Amino acid sequence: MSQMANAITKRERDCLVFIEEYTGKGFPIRLHEIASTMKVKSPTAFNVIKRLEEKGLVESRNGMVRLTTAGKEAARKILVVHRTFESLFCQSGVPMEKACEEASDIDFLIPENNARKVLKRIDNPKVCPHGKPIRGR
Ligand SMILES: [Zn+2]
Repeated sequence: MSQMANAITKRERDCLVFIEEYTGKGFPIRLHEIASTMKVKSPTAFNVIKRLEEKGLVESRNGMVRLTTAGKEAARKILVVHRTFESLFCQSGVPMEKACEEASDIDFLIPENNARKVLKRIDNPKVCPHGKPIRGR
């Protein structure tokens, strides 16, 4: 399978990261909560979830949504890249809010091993500007 087959869109990325952050403690989330938090209509959220489901990244049953193992791994990678570039941008003088927003535009497109090279270059910070662990636990 080519890499493109696994590619996700920005909206799918936002949804994946949101579910990961929300369900990190192991609880599933309701579809309507995803829709209201992401400020989209329920049918839109439903379509995003459906596409993530087709890619094997989430599973939903009776309106409850959770990440699959592959989905958790995809979210973990995105967050490593996100926190790396957020740190790089902040260290370079970009305001924190902008750094976060702009890192979100690219974090799902950049391979984790490239982010690790960037991390080395900026002296391996342990946490992102928000104080979250860059490599996870
Ligand atoms: Zn951020």
